[in-house]
Amino acid sequence: MDAEVAEQVADIARRVVASGAISANGHGNVSVRTPGSDEMYFTAGPSLRDHPASAVVRVGLDGTLREGELPPIQAAVVAMHTAMYDDNPDVGCVLHTHSPYATAYAVARRPIGCWVEALAMFGLGDGVPVTSYEPRGSEQAIAGIRAAVIPGVPAVLLANHGVLVFHRTPELAILVGGVVEEAAQAGLNAAALGGPADIPADLRAAALQRAMTFESSGMVRAAPPVQSREDTDIAWGERPEADDAERFYRDRPPHWGTA
Ligand SMILES: [Zn+2]
Repeated sequence: MDAEVAEQVADIARRVVASGAISANGHGNVSVRTPGSDEMYFTAGPSLRDHPASAVVRVGLDGTLREGELPPIQAAVVAMHTAMYDDNPDVGCVLHTHSPYATAYAVARRPIGCWVEALAMFGLGDGVPVTSYEPRGSEQAIAGIRAAVIPGVPAVLLANHGVLVFHRTPELAILVGGVVEEAAQAGLNAAALGGPADIPADLRAAALQRAMTFESSGMVRAAPPVQSREDTDIAWGERPEADDAERFYRDRPPHWGTA
């Protein structure tokens, strides 16, 4: 067991809880693929809340437990993590929660449409599909997840269960988990107003394009001041102001206070 990776996984669990896209009991699990290997580190604890690094286990992508202790209830969901790594070589992190609003859609077996701009911006322009219902951990359940996943879309609703997110990095997985939950909440709220309106397909592509442009232009920062108050080209003894009051305030020693 690489203690550092186990600690990283526990930290991801903390960040998922901090994101707020989680049910009150914190149920869910997180895994990361260890780069260049055929295994993942997986949270074996019952809740992501206060999940200790000591309860992180090492599991082969064939589902074999390699190190640590895995309770049967958690072992039942291991296969949906390994399936996402198997099917998508780019996936580095899988995240499963029962975040309440997304789970409401999962329980209603209703997909989430692209009615929130962030969905289009983060690769969910086709919305979030929903699986058929099969008992968790069964072969049929895994087949159902595989059948529901839309290539390139990093999330799927698990019928009568919760949500599964899979992405290149933990940061992106947590971000998408939050976007899905936000979209589900907005969809439910909008239902009281006649239902959410889907963004037209061509405009979803435009939203994604703009998001990529923002990404490539990097962080926008305010320009530093060209001159500070003390850095003027006025020579010592010269008075730039005609107004005495202005000079008085400018020359006021700091210990005078601001009153
Ligand atoms: Zn679950």
